[in-house]
This record gives sequence, C-alpha cells and structure tokens, in this order.
Amino acid sequence: MDVESYIEQAPESCRGVMRRAFAGNSLRAAINAKCLACCNYVREDITHCRVTICPLWHLRPYQVKAKKRPGRAQRSPAKASYAEEQSQVNG
Ligand code: SF4
Repeated sequence: MDVESYIEQAPESCRGVMRRAFAGNSLRAAINAKCLACCNYVREDITHCRVTICPLWHLRPYQVKAKKRPGRAQRSPAKASYAEEQSQVNG
C-alpha cells in the first residue's frame, strides 16, 4: 500500500492530519496520526487509551485536560464581587 492509499482509507475527517504527518514537518501531526490509526480513527478511544507503556502515551491527543485553576477574578473576592455588582448594574 502506498502512502496516498493509506491516507485515503482513513475517514475524511482525519485525512488532513494524516497528510500533515506524512509531509514530515510536524511532530504533533505525526503523533496525532499515529494515535488515530492505532485506535481505528476513534478519537474517544485515544482519550481512554490505557497503553501506558506506549512511548506516545503522555503525548497522545484528545486527553481530558485537568481542571483549570480558577482565574484571577474567581480567586479574588474583591474582583468577584465587583463583577457581580457590575452584572447587577448592567442587568
Ligand atoms: S498512545 Fe495509545 S493510541 Fe497512541 S499510539 Fe500509543 S497505544 Fe496507540
């Protein structure tokens, strides 16, 4: 199978990343393409990949991000109350 045939057998939504990977200019595209092919192009399966011995595991796409820390306005009671006041004033 040649590269173009390999890309064409992927779902249309994945062909862009496959093409970028095979162009050889993007490590991110290469990792994403490898994980997509590994999981038969099911993104949710990459999210739940448990193959922790895979060298790409920490770098795989579609991971669930850890919750963001609260932003400054949420951390600061003074700013939070100011924001509440403004929303009450502005409706
Ligand atoms: S990290 Fe998981 S999905 Fe990605 S290539 Fe490795 S085993 Fe496959």
